[in-house]
Amino acid sequence: MASMNEPTIGFTQTRTPQRRPEDSTLSFGKVLTDHMFMMNYEEGRGWHDPRVVPYAPLTLDPATSVLHYGQAVFDGLKAFRGGDGTIRLFRAQRHAERLNRSCAALCIPTMDANLIRRSFEAIVSADHAWVPSSPGTSLYIRPTVIATEVQLGVHPAHSYTYFVICSPVGSYYKEGVKPVRILATDKYVRAVQGGLGEAKTAANYAASLAAQQDAERQGYTQVLWLDGIERRFVDEVGTMNIMLRIGDEVITPPLAGTILDGVTRNSALTLMRDWGLKVSERKIAIEEVMQAGRDGTLAEMWGTGTAAVVSPVGELGYKGETIRIGGGQTGPVTQRLYDAIVALQYGRAPDPHGWMSTV
Ligand code: PMP
Repeated sequence: MASMNEPTIGFTQTRTPQRRPEDSTLSFGKVLTDHMFMMNYEEGRGWHDPRVVPYAPLTLDPATSVLHYGQAVFDGLKAFRGGDGTIRLFRAQRHAERLNRSCAALCIPTMDANLIRRSFEAIVSADHAWVPSSPGTSLYIRPTVIATEVQLGVHPAHSYTYFVICSPVGSYYKEGVKPVRILATDKYVRAVQGGLGEAKTAANYAASLAAQQDAERQGYTQVLWLDGIERRFVDEVGTMNIMLRIGDEVITPPLAGTILDGVTRNSALTLMRDWGLKVSERKIAIEEVMQAGRDGTLAEMWGTGTAAVVSPVGELGYKGETIRIGGGQTGPVTQRLYDAIVALQYGRAPDPHGWMSTV
């Protein structure tokens, strides 16, 4: 229920509902639902007019500033339909807060985090029939803010549009959790301290494309990013945070301004600490990882992110050498994290941290 101070969210129902695809045909982000959430900002007026409306193209003047200077931020989270039919969002508040941090980094006026969370709930409840129910499927929610001022000067815009669109997505692991091959690169960098690395902004993804294409051409699935100064310390993998286990120590790079504060990363760290594992957030050099791989002490390595939950790394390439990790199989901590997080998301496990919210 909206309290007295909370704005009412308007609702205009679509007159042309689309046919929903079969769960078995779903991939990622290709099909969009019937509605979208929108809200506008103008200087002097603030954020106003939150509403759910029929999904439709945006009309933008060619001089709209986002098209030129990329003043845009987004986030990504999921809604899951449990076996009992209940729809749950995973850590909606944390995603809302991160969207606001991304806004602040790009000089975009922040929103009320509660209203952001309500925007997720409003769009999912309008399109609740689009939340698929087959194992592993979900509704991906994509909140986005763009600068809409029509002008070609380089400065923070005076008007913005916030929208939330949704896409039913298929199971990431149709054939079971499968280890991937990744390539550490010292040719490209993604972010440097003082830059935009910890914001979820279009520029970071634009900056990753050439490296990703290069890695794919060499037969790898993802890029392992190293720090932008020494090109030595492990940062992130593709669009995931990276974790690895050497002996009994789980290591993940610290949040020091160049990597995204992943919600899955935070969830995995919390769970592993709950389980009593030794977890370190510390810098780790690529040579240390390669050496542990050669010694046989690198027991497992995995990425964490909303799309896959966890993605085990079976092989790591660097400077012409490739090491195999955990015999190319999914390691025990990786698998345990996957099972625990997925059980929570589909409402099959108790939720002691209050991560799930029902819609
Ligand atoms: N790093 C980057 C660059 C990402 O795009 C993502 C995906 N959002 C992540 C890490 C993982 O974050 P999360 O667990 O919140 O999805």
